[in-house]
Amino acid sequence: MNGPQPVSQIASLWRDTAKTAPNFSRLSNDKTVDVAIIGGGYTGLTAAHRLAERDVQSIVVDANPIGWGASGRNGGVVSAKFRLSFPSIAQAHGMPVATAMHRLCHEAVDEVDALIQSYGLESARFTRCGNLRCAHTAKALKGISEEAEWMRREMGDDSLRCLSAGEVAEETGSHAFKGGVLGLGVGTLHPLDYVRGLAEGLNQRHGELVFERTPATSIRRLNDGVHITTPGGEIKARQVILATNAYSDITPVSATIKARLVPFRSSIIATHPLPEALQNYLLIKDRSYGETRRMMRWFRKVDGRIVFGGRGAFGKRDSQAAFDSLQSAMVSLFPALADIGIAYRWSGHVGMTLDALPHVGRFDDRVCYAAGYNGAGVAMSTLLGRLAADYAMGESPDVALLAAERLKAVPLYPLREVGIRLVAGYYQFLDAIGR
Ligand SMILES: Cc1cc2nc3c(=O)[nH]c(=O)nc-3n(C[C@H](O)[C@H](O)[C@H](O)COP(=O)(O)OP(=O)(O)OC[C@H]3O[C@@H](n4cnc5c(N)ncnc54)[C@H](O)[C@@H]3O)c2cc1C
Repeated sequence: MNGPQPVSQIASLWRDTAKTAPNFSRLSNDKTVDVAIIGGGYTGLTAAHRLAERDVQSIVVDANPIGWGASGRNGGVVSAKFRLSFPSIAQAHGMPVATAMHRLCHEAVDEVDALIQSYGLESARFTRCGNLRCAHTAKALKGISEEAEWMRREMGDDSLRCLSAGEVAEETGSHAFKGGVLGLGVGTLHPLDYVRGLAEGLNQRHGELVFERTPATSIRRLNDGVHITTPGGEIKARQVILATNAYSDITPVSATIKARLVPFRSSIIATHPLPEALQNYLLIKDRSYGETRRMMRWFRKVDGRIVFGGRGAFGKRDSQAAFDSLQSAMVSLFPALADIGIAYRWSGHVGMTLDALPHVGRFDDRVCYAAGYNGAGVAMSTLLGRLAADYAMGESPDVALLAAERLKAVPLYPLREVGIRLVAGYYQFLDAIGR
């Protein structure tokens, strides 16, 4: 087995395989627009797209190169789910709310599809290949099978199919699972090409409005709007959208979001290309796959490599221990990968919220936001960016439990890291004993 690489050699598969490498300018003069968007990931860019559709002038500034944040680092799994199950939402809030939440999830995936078609982003390689949830215990299988049946009966959602242990083993090449539930209609994409393609498409279609390496360092409120300071120029706008999500600690402008999110590090490894025999045996349907564990791990095959990710590392820096533990988890599911080396390892921050849901709306009369995707934000940030733009236009779309006022500040904020460790340790313990 090839030994683990030192953490200093971290590189992302997406960076090496991206087909797009567009250039974006730094902002170098003053601008006056209707809406200023801070953060150039999926949230910020889809907000800009929506505003442009409505002939509203906007500008997007990102402190880093476009794709530097979670939007360029994620697993590319395009899912239609929240961390809360729909039966649990129905039980706590009633069927109309659960139905509205279900609609938002599916609208989010359709929004990705529509945007990719609209901008002709073939490089994003979006495909509706489906997602297979693999049960790690018999109890978990019972839980997800009952949930699939509930979705069919109560919501008329017939996109879910229950698979036996044998069917899951045949498709995945792993004998570790007791069965699974296949979700159709959802998919995968190349995350970095998606974010870069969107940014490039916006500039080409609407004139230069996306600027990178341009941190917003302060916001001043004025009677007729806000002034945003960046190193290269001042932006005057009527409204601001904060689209900084789990990277809201770069400057104080997004302190309101920072206080409401718990950033959690999510790590990914990618193997060297598999020999042909293994390629024909592992993940043969090329879907995305996830486990039912609380500390969920997911995997997919990209260009003949296994890409394997999960949460479970803490702190601001990459952790060799997290990469090693992903590799051991991967080999325990797929023993045939024991001799395949790891070519890429990288990580990023996901933004967790206290109620495990993302939120969108207004902080006050000038500032809107969308954030808190809890690690499932490729599709949802694409939708909530659009809805944040609608809020900035003075509208109040129906977002059910995603309403802004439900996003609560994290109590005892300085202790959040200790809290994460305790909760994650407890979850790992429950996973280990199969509860
Ligand atoms: C490792 C990893 C794997 C993931 N896998 C999946 C997955 O497979 N499927 C899924 O659905 N979700 C996944 N996610 C989550 C998903 O990537 C995010 O929810 C989504 O990308 C959030 O997009 P965003 O635009 O809100 O934030 P980001 O893409 O993080 O963008 C925020 C941007 O704000 C900028 N910024 C911050 N402060 C300032 C400032 N003061 N001035 C200017 N710019 C600023 C940052 O530079 C950053 O680029 C994953 C996340 C990670 C980290």
